[in-house]
Order: sequence, then C-alpha cells, then structure tokens
Amino acid sequence: MAEEKEKSAGKLLEEQLGWSFPHIGKKAPEQVKEAAAFCEGYKAFLDRGKTERECVDLAVDMLEKAGYCPLDLSAHYEPGDKVYLVNRGKSVLATTFGREPLDKGVRLNGAHIDSPRLDLKPSPLYEKNEIAYFKTHYYGGIRKYQWGTVPLAIHGVAVKKDGERVNIRIGEEPGDPVFCVTDLLPHLAAKQNERKLGEGLKGEELNIVIGSLPFQDEAVKEPVKLMALKLLNEKYGITEADFFRAEIEMVPAQKAVDVGLDRSLIGAYGQDDRVCAYTALMAEIETVSPLYTTITVLTDKEEIGSEGNTGMNSAYLRHYIEDLAELSQVRARQVMRNALCLSSDVNAAYDPTFSDVFEANNASYINKGCVLTKYTGARGKSGANDASAETMAQVIAAMDKEGVYWQAGELGAVDQGGGGTIAKYVAQLDIDVVDLGVPVLSMHAPFELVSKLDVYNTYKAFKAFLNFL
Ligand code: MN
Ligand code: MN
Repeated sequence: MAEEKEKSAGKLLEEQLGWSFPHIGKKAPEQVKEAAAFCEGYKAFLDRGKTERECVDLAVDMLEKAGYCPLDLSAHYEPGDKVYLVNRGKSVLATTFGREPLDKGVRLNGAHIDSPRLDLKPSPLYEKNEIAYFKTHYYGGIRKYQWGTVPLAIHGVAVKKDGERVNIRIGEEPGDPVFCVTDLLPHLAAKQNERKLGEGLKGEELNIVIGSLPFQDEAVKEPVKLMALKLLNEKYGITEADFFRAEIEMVPAQKAVDVGLDRSLIGAYGQDDRVCAYTALMAEIETVSPLYTTITVLTDKEEIGSEGNTGMNSAYLRHYIEDLAELSQVRARQVMRNALCLSSDVNAAYDPTFSDVFEANNASYINKGCVLTKYTGARGKSGANDASAETMAQVIAAMDKEGVYWQAGELGAVDQGGGGTIAKYVAQLDIDVVDLGVPVLSMHAPFELVSKLDVYNTYKAFKAFLNFL
C-alpha cells in the first residue's frame, strides 16, 4: 500500500469550509446492492399501482398485513398502535401513535399517487372510417407528442345502474391486448413537422385505437363501435351509458424495468410521485415506536393543483388531524402548530443533454441522494411554500444523524418555468413543511427515470424523519 500523500494547507481548509454533494456510488459503493434489493419491491408496486385507486388498494393491503386497523373513533390508542383511513378510495392516511402526547406535534409525510395520463371523456366511444376509438382528455402536465405510438393499458372503474362497481383493467396481463394513439409517418409529416413541439400532437388528436372488426349485420350503421361495446359488455357487463358513471384512465402498459448496463436506474410510468409514495409507505410501516405520532398521507389530484375532495387543497387532512386530536382530548390547532411535514415529491434531475434549463450549482443530480427543495414556484418564487431555515435545519439534522445521502436543488434555472407541490396546502394549516423527494429524468413522460441509490436514500430519509427527530 502506498502511503497517503500529505494534504496541503489549502486542500485541508477547502475540506473544512467548502461543501459539495458526492456521488453515492463513489462514497458508499456498498449501498448499490442494498438499493437494488430495496427497489425490487418498488418496481412491483409500480406495476400493480398505475392509478390512484390501485395505489390506495395496494397501500391498504400492505398496511393491513403490517397490523394497521381502520381508524375507530370510539377506540383508545396506545403508543405503537397503528391505524389508517381511506378517503373515497383515492387517498389514504396512516398513523403510528407516538410516545409523546399528540399536542407536542406530529410527523407528517405526504406524497401523491396520481400521475399524468389520458382520461377517457364522458362519452368516449366512436367509430370513424371503420375504426373504433376512445376520445380522451389529458390529465396533468403532459407533453402530448410523447403519448403517440406508446402501448397503453385501460384502467378504471365504472358504477353500473344498479350501483355495482366494476374494476376495469386491460393491457397488463401477459397476452392482454394494448391500445394506442397513432401518429403520422415521416413521409407525410412535412406539414405536421412545421407545428410547434407543444402541438406535435394536439389534444383532440389523442384518440385511442380500440378495435377494427365489425359486428356482422348490414343494418347496423356503426358495426365496429358495436363490436367494441359487445366485447366490453361481455367482459365487464357495461353498456355505453355506463361511461357516464365511470373514471377510466389510459396509462402506459410498459412495466417497470432496470435501465443501463449497470442496472443503476429504473424506467417506468408514474414514478412522479409513486416513488415517494412507496418509500413513505415503507418508512411508515417500519416505524415501531416513534417519539411523535406519524401521519403518512398518500394523496390524489396533485397533478391538477391538489383540487377536489381527494386532493390536498381539501379539508380531509385537517379533519383527520381533528379526529386524532379529539381521541387524545387535545386541541387540533395545537397539533398542527407543532407539526413538521415533508411534502414528498420528485424534482427535476439535471439532464446533461438539456443543460441550459438548469443552473448547475443548484440542480439535483441522479445518484446524489434525495433532494431537499426549499421552495418551488415560478418567477419570483410565486406560489412557493419557501421553507424556513429552522425547518431546513430540523430535516437536515435528522438525515445527517442517520447518514442519509441528500442534496439540495431547485426546479431548474430562474425564469425557465416552475411548478408546485402539496407543500403550500399543508402550510395553509399552520404546519412547517418542506419538499423532499427523488430526482427524476424525463419527468411526466410515459417512461420516467430514477436512480436506485436515490430511491433507497429517500426511504432512509423518511425513516430518519419519522423516528429520530
Ligand atoms: Mn409530483
Ligand atoms: Mn408531477
């Protein structure tokens, strides 16, 4: 072994005073294997939970297996007891009771389980030139041109006239057919190529091919549409009128896969924000006897501004905290005033191919750990939560104590755009909150990329947050 060269005074001072976030693969190569093992469960979660409803069902399964019971407002709970509450099948809250009284505060962790997609319109089915289609209305911020020629699966529910609810899911099982939006061949695309990229495919062009064979009867005017209806009726017992009582989402049929020769990355649909939902859920489940009561919330509708009664801009979280407060006979507002929350959501990872939209010193990078985002918003921090220095200090202290690899980052360079999370809706409740999550490449695309090391360290950050503050 060669003797280590003595460091110069400047080098030593630089180490003492400066700071840079390391690549985890260089600093802690032993984590590569641990992260890969952890992410097998994550990939399975992504494949089973492609809609908010499916994620809630999946979460309830995991919670019940881990000993969580539905919240009972007539029960008495002891430290370590575990409860959950489902909000309208589309969001879920889970709690582990802490050793401290509730009015000392709670540790809240919120992630969202809705992802950008193509929703079916209320009256979706039509036939044109002997092809049957679904009309769609996109949900969330998609780049429309990315959704053409991508295999899609149908997921959703329909409530029939008699009240029976049927779950719809085609395109996920081996041997299932898939569906897709068509695009022009390059030979005839000269005019389309002149469109701005944002209009490469227009909203009303996101029509999904669902069939092309007719029902055999000359008397029928739209026999291909009828054939599609017949097949849906045979499989689910639904008729055309049932689409008005349905929520049906078209999502990429692609399963989660490893990306790269070294398998360091995961490529999948819906990682924004199921990557934080899964890691938050795992951290919640593995929390045994926390000092402070935990609330892990998997919420809906973040992608359209947290609207609706399953989104964070509704009172359902406050009502849940009020219920817990009543059970403990403390004031709910005291619980919220003393609460600390992670708004757990993804951030844009620095993409060297498109480096000009980032500011390199304040971007997050894959393989440097979870990213702490002090503020989001647009322009002069408009719409941002802007976490306080004190809140940043508390969360950083928890992560540092547990040796979590984390980094700080903004969403792109100043005035390049912007975005928001659930943070500002949590802050409205008089709760301290900061954004933390996983850096993502190709965010909101049908196939998003994350690093396994970052997923693993986000899970570690959540465990540190719930257990050690
Ligand atoms: Mn998100
Ligand atoms: Mn998003």
